[in-house]
Amino acid sequence: MAAELRQLGLEVRLQPVAVTHWIRGAETATLVEYPGMVPGTTQKIVLTALGGSSSTPPDGLTADVVTVNTFDELTALGRDKVAGKIVLFNELFDKQKAAAGLAFAAYGETVRYRGAGAKAAADLGAVAALVRSVGSIDYRLPHTGFSFPAGIPAGAVTAEDADLIVHLASQGKVRMHLTLTPQKLPDETGYNVIADLKGVEHPEQIVLVSGHLDSWDLGTGAIDDGAGVVIAMETAEILQRLHLRPARTLRVIAWMDEETGGAGSKAYSTEYSADFAHHIAAIESDAGAAHPLGFDVKAAPAAIDALRPVQAVLQSIGATVFQPSTYPPGADIAAMSDAGVPAFGVMQDGRTYFNYHHSAADTLDKIVPSELRENAAAMAVLAYALTNMKDPLPR
Ligand SMILES: [Zn+2]
Repeated sequence: MAAELRQLGLEVRLQPVAVTHWIRGAETATLVEYPGMVPGTTQKIVLTALGGSSSTPPDGLTADVVTVNTFDELTALGRDKVAGKIVLFNELFDKQKAAAGLAFAAYGETVRYRGAGAKAAADLGAVAALVRSVGSIDYRLPHTGFSFPAGIPAGAVTAEDADLIVHLASQGKVRMHLTLTPQKLPDETGYNVIADLKGVEHPEQIVLVSGHLDSWDLGTGAIDDGAGVVIAMETAEILQRLHLRPARTLRVIAWMDEETGGAGSKAYSTEYSADFAHHIAAIESDAGAAHPLGFDVKAAPAAIDALRPVQAVLQSIGATVFQPSTYPPGADIAAMSDAGVPAFGVMQDGRTYFNYHHSAADTLDKIVPSELRENAAAMAVLAYALTNMKDPLPR
């Protein structure tokens, strides 16, 4: 990143960030007792460890499985029925919502079980927690992601395996042998890559474009969020190639550690929060690389009015939606947004995003080059307008 951005003529610095060092180990599970089991057989369960998971003993643990759909159901079971068990959260991902364009709403409904399920189960004495994978298509593929460390092993089973376990558990006792041996090692140093294309009139005023550099380990992180990093980098390249000199500074950031706690954005806030008044706007792309529809916007209504000419320019690629948002449209720019900096998230067509998200299938072949170019164009048009409009956006 740093070398590419230097080659584009930007001033680059690497901001050190202490990051969690968690590595995946063995991850296997089998049902060793269940209704209708043929003697001498077992049933393989496909799963993966969640980031932040603790380890089972090296040769695994064996316990009864209890299944719930919601936190309320877990609470209703109480400690008596949960202690010593493996809890499976089976909250369904709403595929119809995703297909209708509300994929992130569907994600929001289910991802809280991935994030907080292990803690809720551990609080009632569970020995491990599993979630149904948070994803919108069923190819017996587990989807990983962050789980708040709860001191117990935490994993995601595939949708098919969740269905099987729930079906069997409705008929009687289900026992699982579970082996998850991830390790938490001492923190490492990673970096935010911060690259400035200096403004010619107001170099102290910043328009920030960004994506995040870290990704989950199962795939290669092409859609989450290699694409976002490339879109931000392309924004600088487009301005340079077209010899457009920004009046304000265009700052490209590749954030470190979006996925496991946001240490990168915290480090940036720690160093630059006193300067947020000079941050004219912040843009992040963290929803893949599919066709852009426009932007989610957290800004004063008058700011959206001021951007009507930008919508007109984006008409030709169909990226004209400027949708007011009540929450920050990007995890890494959330602190800035909360401090009043107008914030924009590229709104990609998310219908297939969660098919691949955080799974082994998040690889470069999922990215359509023409759509990636549309995203870069959309971010570049908005960013250039923000760097060169006469007055900064109203706050
Ligand atoms: Zn992401």
